[in-house]
Amino acid sequence: MNLIFVLLSQIIAFPAQPNIKLEVVGQASVTPNLAIFAPHENENVVNDYVSQKVTKYGGVFVILRQNKERWIRFNIDPFEVKIDPNRIFTESGRHKNIIKHNPKLRTNTYVFHRAMLLSKRLAKLITHTMGNTDSSPIWLAIHNNTHGYRGDNKQGRGDISIQLYQQKLANNATFIKAVSQQYGDEDDLFFVTQQQDFNTLQQNGWNVVLQHPQVGVNPEEDNGSLSMYAQKLGIRYINIEAERSTYNFGEDHLIKQQQMVDFVFNQLLDIKD
Ligand SMILES: [Zn+2]
Repeated sequence: MNLIFVLLSQIIAFPAQPNIKLEVVGQASVTPNLAIFAPHENENVVNDYVSQKVTKYGGVFVILRQNKERWIRFNIDPFEVKIDPNRIFTESGRHKNIIKHNPKLRTNTYVFHRAMLLSKRLAKLITHTMGNTDSSPIWLAIHNNTHGYRGDNKQGRGDISIQLYQQKLANNATFIKAVSQQYGDEDDLFFVTQQQDFNTLQQNGWNVVLQHPQVGVNPEEDNGSLSMYAQKLGIRYINIEAERSTYNFGEDHLIKQQQMVDFVFNQLLDIKD
């Protein structure tokens, strides 16, 4: 039987700059207490499928939208301040984020302070829309990455790959506790905060990275990402990453990422018919 889903979503505009929007499917604080976030608008391979899952099984799916790009741009006359929307969830992360993407912007300016404030307000709008953080929520993140990785001697691009995570762990990266590389493409992987989820994913043959618990307490690891913020709050977090085509380089791993989403719902969260 083919089911045709009527996907109801609502749009929440960011009050300080209404061309930044959240598309929201489902609603927070229904059982299960599941909130899914897609911060990078150009990483959208599996979004329709996730929307169907949420419509069918509950939870909320929040998609950040502006110009279909990875970055968010704040208009602070006469400047445009670029930020990574997955680096805005802590004060220190926001600060580093603005400096990184706007190297000419001095920190002691009105524009910088305004960008800090807008980053904070946007983060609050996102986490508020995802629901109450006091009620043991489960956070999923949806990302896509480019084929291979920069420096892999195979013309790969980007900086996400299970092979690269393994190298980083071997080189004593302090934000990773464990890496399990198994079968399948190096770019299709989970990134989790809980040992139990790592174990289950590993036992079932998936590529998976376990974030190090010190990320939640060590100021040097405070990059403002949702995974770091989840660790800090003790929230169970699972990022579902798969390859996508980037200007005809690499391929959209839609089927694989759908299987990954299914595995999370069925096996990790026990959400099924
Ligand atoms: Zn991303």
